[in-house]
Amino acid sequence: MNLSTPIEKIPRIGPIYQKRLKKLGIKTLRDLFFHFPHRYDDFSNIIPIAKVQLGQTCCVQGRILEIKNTRTWRKRMFLTQAIIEDDTAAIKAVWFNQPYLINTLMQGDYVCLAGKVVLGDDGLYLSNPAYEKIKKEKDLSPGLTHTGRLVPVYPETEGLSSRWLRYILKPLLAKFKNKIKDPIPESIRKKYNLMEIGKALWQIHFPDSKALAKKAQERFSFEDLFLIQLLVLKERQKLAKQRAVPIPINIELIKEFVESLPFKLTGAQKRCAWQILKDIQKPRPMNRLLEGDVGSGKTVVATIAALNTAKAGYQVAFMAPTEILAKQHFQEIGKFLKKFKLNIGLLTGKTDRFISKKLGEQIEISRKKLLEKTEKGEIDILIGTHALIQEKVKFKNLALVILDEQHRFGVEQRAKLISTKKQKEMKAIPHLLSMTATPIPRTLALSIYGDLDLSLLDEMPKGRKKIITKIVSPANRQKAYSFIRKQVKKGRQVFVICPRIEPQNQELEETSSRLTKKKRAILSWAEVKAVKEEYEKLSKEIFPDLKVGMLHGKMSSKEKEKIMNDFKNKKIDILVSTSVVEVGVDVPDATVMMIEGAERFGLAQLHQFRGRVGRSKYQSFCFLFTDSPAKKTHQRLKALVESEDGFALSEKDLEIRGPGNLIGTRQWGIPDLAMSALTDIFLVEKTKKAAKEIIEQDPELKNYPLLRKKIESFRERIHLE
Ligand code: ADP
Ligand code: MG
Repeated sequence: MNLSTPIEKIPRIGPIYQKRLKKLGIKTLRDLFFHFPHRYDDFSNIIPIAKVQLGQTCCVQGRILEIKNTRTWRKRMFLTQAIIEDDTAAIKAVWFNQPYLINTLMQGDYVCLAGKVVLGDDGLYLSNPAYEKIKKEKDLSPGLTHTGRLVPVYPETEGLSSRWLRYILKPLLAKFKNKIKDPIPESIRKKYNLMEIGKALWQIHFPDSKALAKKAQERFSFEDLFLIQLLVLKERQKLAKQRAVPIPINIELIKEFVESLPFKLTGAQKRCAWQILKDIQKPRPMNRLLEGDVGSGKTVVATIAALNTAKAGYQVAFMAPTEILAKQHFQEIGKFLKKFKLNIGLLTGKTDRFISKKLGEQIEISRKKLLEKTEKGEIDILIGTHALIQEKVKFKNLALVILDEQHRFGVEQRAKLISTKKQKEMKAIPHLLSMTATPIPRTLALSIYGDLDLSLLDEMPKGRKKIITKIVSPANRQKAYSFIRKQVKKGRQVFVICPRIEPQNQELEETSSRLTKKKRAILSWAEVKAVKEEYEKLSKEIFPDLKVGMLHGKMSSKEKEKIMNDFKNKKIDILVSTSVVEVGVDVPDATVMMIEGAERFGLAQLHQFRGRVGRSKYQSFCFLFTDSPAKKTHQRLKALVESEDGFALSEKDLEIRGPGNLIGTRQWGIPDLAMSALTDIFLVEKTKKAAKEIIEQDPELKNYPLLRKKIESFRERIHLE
């Protein structure tokens, strides 16, 4: 047996458990070892029974005087009751619906019990305590697994308890912990005082103290960040060997463009555009992230770079995450550049393709023609979805790639876009500009891009009205509805977001990044159902006199596009949709954003929804419907009422909900542990330094094959750029 041994070959794991483990994404022994607890129950304080107090969580050891099953007739529930005695006193323990316990725990056995002390009719008792048989009256920590120590609690799935995981893990880990090779070189480990991998694995699962658990965790955070940093350095190394076409800045042209705009650029827009222009002027490929809140005006900034590139005689590819957004960009960029007489193509998955000709008109064109024109260099700017990186699309002289809300795009992918002989001879790859509205924690963005490659649009265009945000409790629902009706009568439009459908239980949610495809499909069907129900309710009961439409992920892209167009053209007043529907869609007359089940979303995500309204001169509103009476919910939502800053809200999310729920983490594929570690600037700096040391001394990592392998598998999981 080794770390790659599949779980099927591990003794004591039967077929049922194999299936359940796979649900958590655990396929090998390694996966099992790296399935870390998300918290610990502190049962380390073993006390004499006489000292037990009401309300306390405690651990006692003693002999079972008596154990029996009874049944409550009212609730038809099994109760297992036992009396435990040590040399100071006796106490009762009660378990619910675990009648089989009497087959394990017998009269006369010594046990260790840990749990909450509550008050019953006949005195104090331990309610549903964790239990573990011991050999003699007293047994202390190292030998204990489920009680009498810091006990690991794992993110669970149905039928896979932490108890079972501990039972399986402990002997395996004991056997393997000294045989696991450490990917972190010893020199680095010594210098940064990191726990060795075997010890760290043991201490993260079965810690001897909280301090050691923390130290183990730190080691794995260090490892993840160290790998990220190495990956970044390797990627930079690769990039540094590449060349790109230098695009001279055409000041007159840029001036003319800026003057032609119907608005004044913000200071931030000017600064970012300048940073980009300076970058693409160099013969080295740009790798820049343009980060700005929803509505901060990223498209114009990108358009400046595109215009400058196209007028210098090179092609630009512009990729959006969805067809609707690609089309919107096509329209908007076409409008911005009308005066500048460029050929702009739109290429999407299945729908029609248009081309805006020299005349400035949109013309339908066949896919074949569009591809031909692109290859001949007659298309200056080609806009589309992922379809653009298909190999069928050949460019004549592509020099700039712009990505909107997509992250997976490495040097290899860029190189793929270069297909013509001339370009290959030049050995030049395109410059890359990524844009995102996802508020990535600063430390993460900086460690991946470095200060030089990050452009922040941290200023909103002037004259935007603040969106009035209100929390709507059930009592005020009708009032909100009649307000919405009045808005529609004034010619405004409404977005309705349906509640997010969550996995069955909380634990599942914590591992939701690892949800199986099937589970995800079921969830997305559930979301479709929610949309249909909301649609029925609104169109039949609440607003029978208004035009209600719906949009969800199971529609074909043609259907989606039609609905979106109908909404834009005001054939629909109220559009009901799932949370997954496009972020950046621009509908100027939409002034109301109504979110059902608001408590189920993260603040940053709610903020992104809110960003879909408020794009016109009219006052806009965001209604957060919640049926949850919890005070905590209201406090959290209040942050949204009070703040308009996406970054501040995402930091608040991080604080309240933890890194697993931060939007964008799934997109980036960053492991949770690394994500939380990224808030630790010192650790980020340390790992940066460590990675640099290793790379400087051994650029190809020839002496560290394990590390090299790790980075490769990490590269597959994580998406940089
Ligand atoms: P995002 O950053 O979310 O992609 P967009 O680029 O879609 O934002 O811009 C949102 C809207 O604001 C667009 O209608 C755009 O034309 C407009 N806009 C962009 N910059 C400015 C500005 N400086 N002043 C006023 N409106 C602007
Ligand atoms: Mg946008």
